[in-house]
Amino acid sequence: MAIVREKGAMRQWSRSQRQCGQRIALVPTMGFLHQGHLSLVAEARLRADKVVVSIYVNPGQFAPGEDLDVYPRDFDSDVEKLKPLGVDIIFNPHDLYVRESPEKNGESGHETWIRVENLEKSLCGGSRPLFFRGVATVVSKLLNIVEPDVVVFGKKDYQQWRVLARMVRDLDFGVEVIGCPLVREADGLAMSSRNVRLTATERKNALAIFHSLKRAEELVRSGETDSSVLIEQAVTAISNAGGKVDYASIVDQETLKSVDKITKPSVFAIAAWFEAHTSKRWRIFPGQTIA
Ligand code: AMP
Repeated sequence: MAIVREKGAMRQWSRSQRQCGQRIALVPTMGFLHQGHLSLVAEARLRADKVVVSIYVNPGQFAPGEDLDVYPRDFDSDVEKLKPLGVDIIFNPHDLYVRESPEKNGESGHETWIRVENLEKSLCGGSRPLFFRGVATVVSKLLNIVEPDVVVFGKKDYQQWRVLARMVRDLDFGVEVIGCPLVREADGLAMSSRNVRLTATERKNALAIFHSLKRAEELVRSGETDSSVLIEQAVTAISNAGGKVDYASIVDQETLKSVDKITKPSVFAIAAWFEAHTSKRWRIFPGQTIA
């Protein structure tokens, strides 16, 4: 397993592999890896001859005041976790953006952004209007640098997966997009790098999201089709556990448009804040098919 830090070297490796007929899979991550990420790597391994995992905390998707500076990082431990999985390359660039001058240290050298105009607006896009712009742009850059045949994402970030699949389709990227199932902790909490920053109490309280999704699933199985009933029980349960709901929506699997009556498989997407005693906050983004 090699660690590559330069764009040029990364592209060169990929091109030489493809010349030899090797199929390449890319798993983009921001590091601080857990079993959720590793399940994506296992899927990539099944679908290609060579696997590249990128580890890059993308400044382009953090708004000012969000947790870019304190986003959890542990590169050495990530390397150890990837070693046994047959990963060929860890692509760990220092910075993927062109900086006009070190003094400015901003995005002044970069002015091209990708927007997936409708899919990016709802759900997470409501309170983070520039988030998907940053994600779509960095994934485009990674696809252009690594030139993979397959790219693997997790459905934990359900909207992100849909946004990126649409971008790949609309812009004719020559890559197959795979979405992998959400991996949860034994008690049901969606695995997320940011979970490490929850206090024990917050972590326990955050389980209300999972429990309310399970409850919604049960209600649908017993015949409930009214989305507002399902949403109300979830919002009440999460609020009672001390969470501040950012959104709770039942949406069409592809268009992500709200669904009032559940007549076919749909996604219940919830994001909520659980306050830390530091001033920083974060979200947990589970999504689950409920019908
Ligand atoms: P991140 O490092 O948070 O940017 O995530 C990198 C990739 O791993 C994304 O495609 C995520 O959707 C995916 N991922 C993160 N957590 C999970 C999880 N618990 N289950 C499945 N995929 C996940």
